[in-house]
Amino acid sequence: MSATFLTLQPRPGDEIDPSVDHGIQAIVSGASTAETCNTDLAAGPWDFDARPGYGPGSSMGDVIPTGAPRQGELPAEYRAASEDELHARIRAAKAALGERVVVLGHFYQREEVVTHADYVGDSFQLANAALEHPDAEAIVFCGVHFMAETADLLSRPEQAVILPNLAAGCSMADMASIDDVEECWEQLEDIYGDLTAPDADGLVPVVPVTYMNSSAAIKGFVGRHGGIVCTSSNARTVLEWAFARGRRVLFFPDQHLGRNTAKAMGVPLAQMPMWNPRKPLGGSSADELDGARVILWHGFCSVHRRFTVDQIDKARAEHPDVRVIVHPECPMAVVDAADEAGSTDYIRKAIAAASEPTTFAIGTEINLVQRLAAQFPQHKIFCLDPVVCPCSTMYRIHPGYLAWVLERLVAGEVVNRITVPADVADPARVALERMLAAKP
Ligand code: SF4
Repeated sequence: MSATFLTLQPRPGDEIDPSVDHGIQAIVSGASTAETCNTDLAAGPWDFDARPGYGPGSSMGDVIPTGAPRQGELPAEYRAASEDELHARIRAAKAALGERVVVLGHFYQREEVVTHADYVGDSFQLANAALEHPDAEAIVFCGVHFMAETADLLSRPEQAVILPNLAAGCSMADMASIDDVEECWEQLEDIYGDLTAPDADGLVPVVPVTYMNSSAAIKGFVGRHGGIVCTSSNARTVLEWAFARGRRVLFFPDQHLGRNTAKAMGVPLAQMPMWNPRKPLGGSSADELDGARVILWHGFCSVHRRFTVDQIDKARAEHPDVRVIVHPECPMAVVDAADEAGSTDYIRKAIAAASEPTTFAIGTEINLVQRLAAQFPQHKIFCLDPVVCPCSTMYRIHPGYLAWVLERLVAGEVVNRITVPADVADPARVALERMLAAKP
C-alpha cells in the first residue's frame, strides 16, 4: 500500500510560529496571555518522566500501567543544550548517517522535532514510509510507543526501530491492556458460548476490532481471534468487514471512534453497550450484551475528549462562516455538532482542497492545527480548544532525545530499540493484513 506524506515546513514569510513549545514558553514567561493546560510543560520532559502519571498536559490524570517502559536519564549535555545547539547536532548527526537512518515525525509531534523528520504523517502512513527505505539500518520514530511497535511489525527484521524517549506512551492505548482484554474475552465466552462457532448464518458471536492506537499485544490478540485492525480513516470499512463475519463487534480501545463510526452506519446507541474492564461484565447486563451490535471498550483519547459543543457554539458565534472539522476520537456530541469529522489526513486534505479563503475551527491536536495554520496562511485556521494543551506523551520526544539517539547511532550504538517478539508479531501482522485487504 502506498501512502501519501507531507513535508510541512514553515515557509519564509509565514506569520504564524507553528511551535506550540514556543507558545507555552511565552505563556510561562508572561509574554503571552494565552492559557496552557499545565505550565510544567515548559520544562524538559526529563523533569517529569519519573512521575507515576503521564506528566503534565492533557493526559496528566491518566495513570501509566505497571510495567510500561520508562526512560533512563538523558545525559546532562543534552538536557543543558540550547534549542539552536540541539538543532545543529541533530542536523550534523543526520548528515553523518545519511541514508542509514530515516526519521519519522507524527502529525502531533512538536515542531522542533518535526522539522528534522524525513516524513510527517499519521501512524500508519509513517509505518509505511519505513517500508520505502528497506536499506535504512535505523528508523527513528518520533511518535509514541504503539507507533514504533507498528513500524517494527512492518519493517525488515534487521532494521532497528528507535523511540527517542521510551516514556512516550499513549494513554488511550494503555487503557486496553492485554490482561484486561483476555479477561473480557473469557466473560464474553460465558455469555455467547464458543466464540469460534458460526451460527446458521455463518456468523461468529463476536469479532474483535482494535484501533491502530493499541499495543502490539492487542493487535496480536485480534489476529489470533479472527479480528482486524482499523485506522480512523478506514473504521467504517473495517466494521463492515467485521459485521460480514460476526453478530457483533468488540471495539477497542477508543469508545468514541467506535461509537461515532457505528452510529454513522445506523447502529442504534442502545445496541452499543460499554465494556468497563473494572466492572463485572464490563458494567453491562447479560441482556444488553446479548442485544449488542458493538461492545465499546471504555477507552478514550485525553486530547480529543477536551473538545466540547460549547467550543463549537462559540466558534460559530464569533465566525458565522466557520467550517468546523473534528477528529472522530472526539465525543459523539462534538462530532454531531461539527460540520465534518475525519482523520488527521482527512482534515489536512479538506483544508488543502479549499479554493477560497476559509475560516476553519479544528478539533484535533494543537501541534497539527498550528502547523496547518502556518502552511495555509490564505485561510484562518484555529484550534477549537483555546487552551494550549498538546498530547503530553508525544511531547516527550524533546529534541534532546532525538539528538541523543542519533549521536549514539553515529557512534555505532543502537539505544531505545523497540522490538515486538515473534509470537506477538506474527498474529499482529495477520490483523494488519486483514485491514489492508478489507475493501469498502
Ligand atoms: S493524541 Fe491521544 S491517541 Fe494520540 S498519542 Fe496522544 S493520547 Fe494517544
